[in-house]
Amino acid sequence: MAGVAMSETQALDAPIAATPYWQDDPVVPTLAAAPLPAQVDVLIVGAGYTGLSAARETSSAGGSTLVLEAGALGAGCSGRNGGQVAYSIKPSLATLTAQHGAQRAFAIAREGLLAMEYLRALALDEGLACDWRANGCYFGAHTPRHFAAMQRQAENQPPGLEQRISIVGRADQRGEIDSDFYHGGLVYHDDASVHPMRLLLGLLRRAEERGALVVDHCRALHIARERGGFDVATTRGNVKARKVLVATNGYSGPLTPWHRRRVIPIGSYQIATEPLGVARVRELIPQQRNIVDSRRVVVYFRPSPDGERIIYGGRAALAERDPLACVPRLTAMLTQVFPQLTSARITHAWAGWVAYTFDTLPHLGEDDGLFYCMGYCGQGVPLAPYFGRRIGQQIMGNPDGRTALDGLAFASRPYYRGVPWFLAPSVLAYRTLDRLGL
Ligand SMILES: Cc1cc2nc3c(=O)[nH]c(=O)nc-3n(C[C@H](O)[C@H](O)[C@H](O)COP(=O)(O)OP(=O)(O)OC[C@H]3O[C@@H](n4cnc5c(N)ncnc54)[C@H](O)[C@@H]3O)c2cc1C
Repeated sequence: MAGVAMSETQALDAPIAATPYWQDDPVVPTLAAAPLPAQVDVLIVGAGYTGLSAARETSSAGGSTLVLEAGALGAGCSGRNGGQVAYSIKPSLATLTAQHGAQRAFAIAREGLLAMEYLRALALDEGLACDWRANGCYFGAHTPRHFAAMQRQAENQPPGLEQRISIVGRADQRGEIDSDFYHGGLVYHDDASVHPMRLLLGLLRRAEERGALVVDHCRALHIARERGGFDVATTRGNVKARKVLVATNGYSGPLTPWHRRRVIPIGSYQIATEPLGVARVRELIPQQRNIVDSRRVVVYFRPSPDGERIIYGGRAALAERDPLACVPRLTAMLTQVFPQLTSARITHAWAGWVAYTFDTLPHLGEDDGLFYCMGYCGQGVPLAPYFGRRIGQQIMGNPDGRTALDGLAFASRPYYRGVPWFLAPSVLAYRTLDRLGL
């Protein structure tokens, strides 16, 4: 466990683990170092929610399936996220309608609801143990103007896409959060939270039970097309595969330059407080909901599944930084909302790469046997298991795998080669707008 001494808010001798809080969980297994098969029907690169969910489908349908993970299980976003489950199609229905026409726009927007339903069913109907809590989310308004706009939005939801939303005025806000930081807000009752690592392990088990082989610490190095499929070079030798799925999301690299040019990796940073006590956390967030707010630079926090801690996340720096270096800033952001926590110790700090796309939609598809599924724009907890399932079905030729996103152009930009040099100025501009309350 790496550790540093914290300045400002923390005693010098208090170490902070530079690993996700979720990975302290005693149920995290070590995968067996199985020999690689010489040949499979489906080879999946990346063992996050997307890859494992797809593997479950391909192996259930009888395809021999190998999933390769470059790091340890949970090395990507799926082992280090905030575990917040919300409606996650970013563009508004109006924007989608302008781009894709009314019918397709509605179908795309609806995929966001279907993704939430799928995860809910995995947890509640299938009993996938992921600490599913149907606790809802409080969406705090950063300014009175934001509150007015949010109210209008809640009162005018598109027919057929309604979510259960309550409007909370500032005077009643203490029932949601022990803070006056927000100018009222909305409660999204259908939102939920999960333990991210347990969700990942649940998906791993489902894939393995169906016969998929999941191997970690094995990087795919090169994918060569050949007759009838692919030859994939890995750090542990070559494997032939009839079909390949690229499920590398924000970790897409030189292996597939085409995908790398289409996803923008953005660091998201999190901290966990020391155990504060269930009663204290309940005072801070009485309904135990997830909290997000209306600022452009994203902020998200929640109680830990055991109700003892606050897990707080957001964008801590203009450029990417060591997560430990971001602790003072994230702590300052947390104590802006909860000055009561000024003396609380931080025990963990970590980060991961989410994948934005230029149209802020996820993308999935195929190029002659090479499949891909990625680009959840920081909201893959519901989207990745769902679209992973769909792409797995598509790989096996199952028509149930069709989605409203199929065939959408997956655009890059001439100025973009996979290194988002424009990120720091964009974050600075957004931060300035947030500070001005615009
Ligand atoms: C700090 C943080 C907080 C977040 N909070 C939330 C949240 O609260 N709610 C929400 O909806 N979303 C959240 N997200 C986003 C969410 O976690 C992701 O969208 C989702 O996990 C993506 O899953 P994935 O399987 O597509 O990608 P990942 O889980 O990132 O998996 C991709 C994997 O591919 C592997 N890989 C890459 N290249 C290779 C190679 N050549 N060979 C083998 N393996 C390779 C990587 O090691 C990685 O493990 C958060 C993300 C972060 C980082």
